[in-house]
Amino acid sequence: MDYYGSGISKLIESLSSLPGIGRKSAQRLAFHIIAMPKEQVKAIADSLVEAREKVHFCSSCCTITDSEICPICASSKRNHRQIMIVENSRDLAAYEKTGRYEGVYHVLHGSISPMLGVGPNDIRLKELLMRLQDENGDAKVDEIIIATGSSVEGESTAMYIVKLVKTLGLPIRLTRIATGVPVGGDIENIDEVTLERALSGRTEV
Ligand code: ZN
Repeated sequence: MDYYGSGISKLIESLSSLPGIGRKSAQRLAFHIIAMPKEQVKAIADSLVEAREKVHFCSSCCTITDSEICPICASSKRNHRQIMIVENSRDLAAYEKTGRYEGVYHVLHGSISPMLGVGPNDIRLKELLMRLQDENGDAKVDEIIIATGSSVEGESTAMYIVKLVKTLGLPIRLTRIATGVPVGGDIENIDEVTLERALSGRTEV
């Protein structure tokens, strides 16, 4: 039964489609929103639409950005021959916060998970391969640091990348961040000191 009328019900439904928002929270938010001044609601709605429209993926590293090339890829101060592979832009932000990493990144937007039906073609691996070789077949990169998470998915993605890059036969050093990172832990929730240690203690794979 529709207690509220279709407008409010629709709002509750849209809100509950967001991650971490259950039916109850959606209801609470919906009632909060309809009690807000109209201009404020419009400002929120506009910023949602604007962010979604402007945002796209960096044409080099695939991170979320609002320009063609993200500021990290555009920077001449970064070492473009060192690429750290992360699962998402939040992990990139976590490593950036340590202020210790001078290379560039590659954002996969996910990890391989047969359980969830996510295969190698569903993450940004093709884009990674395109960054490794120039037109003469020479390596454009000296090191790839694999910083996917330590979950089962993160580990199998790491193994897949190692195999994939090794078949190219390029002189690229392949390393994996140290497992100071708790098993199954989300990289973005780990403190900076641990991340820094994970990076400096990385090992050859
Ligand atoms: Zn980029």
